[in-house]
Amino acid sequence: MSEVEFRLAVRSWLAEHLPASLRGVGGPGREHEHIEARLDFERELGAGGFIGLGWPAPFGAAADIARQVIFYEEYSRAGAPGRLSHIGEYLLGPTLIAHGTPAQQARFLPPIARAEEFWCQGYSEPEAGSDLAAVRTTAVLDGDVWRITGQKVWTSLAHVADWCFVLARTDPASVRSRGLSYLLVPMRQPGIEVRPIVQLTGTSEFNEVFFDSAVTAADNVVGAPGDGWRVATATLGYERGVATLGQQLGFARELATVLSGAPADPVLQDELVDAWVGLQVLRHHALRTMGSAPDPSGTAASVAKLLWAPWHQRLGELALAAGGPQSTVVPGDYDLTDAQRLFLFTRADTIYGGSNEIQRNIIANALLGRP
Ligand SMILES: Cc1cc2nc3c(=O)[nH]c(=O)nc-3n(C[C@H](O)[C@H](O)[C@H](O)COP(=O)(O)OP(=O)(O)OC[C@H]3O[C@@H](n4cnc5c(N)ncnc54)[C@H](O)[C@@H]3O)c2cc1C
Repeated sequence: MSEVEFRLAVRSWLAEHLPASLRGVGGPGREHEHIEARLDFERELGAGGFIGLGWPAPFGAAADIARQVIFYEEYSRAGAPGRLSHIGEYLLGPTLIAHGTPAQQARFLPPIARAEEFWCQGYSEPEAGSDLAAVRTTAVLDGDVWRITGQKVWTSLAHVADWCFVLARTDPASVRSRGLSYLLVPMRQPGIEVRPIVQLTGTSEFNEVFFDSAVTAADNVVGAPGDGWRVATATLGYERGVATLGQQLGFARELATVLSGAPADPVLQDELVDAWVGLQVLRHHALRTMGSAPDPSGTAASVAKLLWAPWHQRLGELALAAGGPQSTVVPGDYDLTDAQRLFLFTRADTIYGGSNEIQRNIIANALLGRP
């Protein structure tokens, strides 16, 4: 199928399968909307073969970069909803393809591709955010299961997820990045409690997750026990780099919305032109990173994050500026406008996926040749 034919096929598939009620929902600060209907739509996407589009054969459709971009463009153009399966598809999927056993790939990849199992990422803890190697959650091998005890925090979509990939300390004598393991843990069990955290937007996209002797099978460890740091950092590379391409096409739609409502103010219009130029820069960086051989400096994903996060934050500010002074007034019942949600949610962009300060540290260490 040519690229044009593929575009038309995606467009007509979306026209047929995307319910009108899901158009434009679930974006930043609107993650709580229509969860059940969005899960159903994810399953439709899976049945249509659109999840795991970029995964290599035999796991996925092995679509080239151009077709992945076309899919995202059409998805964004149709106003399709915020994704719920992206943590499985873009973070765990590539990690299992690179580091999982054939049995783990066979067990976990197909349910992600069919949107039958949803995932969350259990890295951050109250004392381990930027300093991820300070993880204290423990896992002890007890016969044929790992028993996990501890607390994770800021866990996006834990309230929706069926499974969590958890970074836990499996060697009690270990320190820092040694002795950690990357465990695949079922969320729906008595040993796990999920408590939503209300965010600035008034909604709860992330949660605290408490593990009290929660269990997972002994073979649900990716990489060797004790080698979880290597696997966990590979996942972070996917989170900061390639996974952001779909997100950027959503940015283009947000920018178009801001442009359409912007007054004829020369200063604001100048800034909006800058925003448009910035969008081209980060889009081309992402495309070049995806299309080229692995970056030997290992910094491309960090550069991508440093490009898109401040850009998106500024867009949130421009969205409010375009609405004039009244756009900053929040009604008593906290029923926010789209611009207010965008502004408030984008405050988090320079924090999640590793803060921008941490990305600068990664780049500095790579350039200075530090371990
Ligand atoms: C919307 C959102 C969703 C998230 N989703 C998830 C998720 O699904 N799963 C998950 O595991 N985590 C998630 N996180 C957590 C995120 O990864 C952490 O918030 C992030 O790593 C920062 O950690 P922290 O919040 O503990 O801040 P801290 O590490 O305490 O940092 C506080 C400040 O100090 C700075 N700082 C810290 N150390 C250094 C240093 N060495 N050099 C320079 N500056 C430094 C930081 O840049 C930051 O400005 C999410 C966060 C947000 C905001």
